[in-house]
Amino acid sequence: MNQLSDRLNRLSQSATLLMSQKSNELKAQGIDVINMSVGEPDFNTPDHIKAAAIKAVEENFSRYSPVPGYPALRQAIVAKLKNENGLDYTPAQISCSNGAKQSVCNVVMTVVNAGDEVIIPAPYWVSYPEMVKLADGTPVVVGAGIEQDFKITPEQLEAAITPKTRALILCSPSNPTGSVYSKEELAGLAAVLAKHERVIVIADEIYEHINYIGKHESIAQFDEIKDRVVIINGVSKAYAMTGWRIGFIAGPEWIVKGCNKLQGQYTSGPCSVSQKAAEAAYTGSQECVEVMRQAFERRRDLIVELAKEIPGLEVNKPQGAFYLFPKCSSYFGKKDGDRVINTSTDLALYLLEVGHVATVGGDDFGSPECFRMSYATSDENIKEAMKRIKEALSRLK
Ligand code: PMP
Ligand code: GLU
Repeated sequence: MNQLSDRLNRLSQSATLLMSQKSNELKAQGIDVINMSVGEPDFNTPDHIKAAAIKAVEENFSRYSPVPGYPALRQAIVAKLKNENGLDYTPAQISCSNGAKQSVCNVVMTVVNAGDEVIIPAPYWVSYPEMVKLADGTPVVVGAGIEQDFKITPEQLEAAITPKTRALILCSPSNPTGSVYSKEELAGLAAVLAKHERVIVIADEIYEHINYIGKHESIAQFDEIKDRVVIINGVSKAYAMTGWRIGFIAGPEWIVKGCNKLQGQYTSGPCSVSQKAAEAAYTGSQECVEVMRQAFERRRDLIVELAKEIPGLEVNKPQGAFYLFPKCSSYFGKKDGDRVINTSTDLALYLLEVGHVATVGGDDFGSPECFRMSYATSDENIKEAMKRIKEALSRLK
């Protein structure tokens, strides 16, 4: 019988990937859609990184790698963490995977037991609660609206912790809001976490380098909790390498060993050639990262300015990542002909089908009153998309 497992039936489909797929379907029909749904840099991978991959192919890096990744890559990551973040790790505390997505999932599967609670501040990246569900854990969502710049407070964290709490998943700079926790804000959360020894912190720092307020701050810098923090990072966003699929964790050895055990049975070490490319990314010139960051910052300024001109949208000024997450609930209950907008997903589908701009509704990010736009696209696309969105929204009465 064609019966999927209960585990799979409990899982939602990734809304980011689904909207991107819908956008591609319309494009295939010849419709000129601007895709602001999936979040990935629109730049090509820098040439020196591509050259390292070509060399790796020629030098026959074609066999299984060690499960946590080549020692040279892990050493390069150790050096990156020391030089850029001032953090001390050993290669045994690093494990590389097929993208940061697998890295997060590995940690969740490694530390969460059935019935354990995992605190997830909302708005959250769509995949976190689903990963927790895969591990038979219970997502505990702590909401932070636009009025608090989408960031939770230490008091909210304290109130959410119970004897069953096993982990907190903290994403800064954040997908989908672009909010960035300051050092002081992280210190406040760390002070709460210090009192709860069972709680592991999964710190997703994949947008580290797409930061518009200067230095990245990691929650792993606080010594009182460092032995319970697992950093998630990778090359996808900083080096425009989403397709190469290299992410990593840095954390306590017992968790890293657990992830290696899981990965050894599940996927093995990540792609050998991609690992050599990632090594070049970490050890080579970092100029490309800054060039892309500056482009994202300029686009951030542009999209915020244009979004503010659209009646009924409320926006924050994101300090990192490449997403804008406007509040759009003033449109709920409005109509264009027979079409009624009741949710942010209805709005995203309306903007796609009527405005030909692909975005993602906030429902799957735990913030039903907002929707997400990725501005990792050209200035021309941003201007045209915002014009279309403004026009489509003006038809809603
Ligand atoms: N964490 C967050 C917050 C992300 O936005 C993404 C991108 N999808 C990932 C992790 C996964 O990144 P990767 O492409 O390296 O798997
Ligand atoms: N980070 C991207 C996003 O959120 C990639 C898509 C995904 O992996 O979900 O759109």
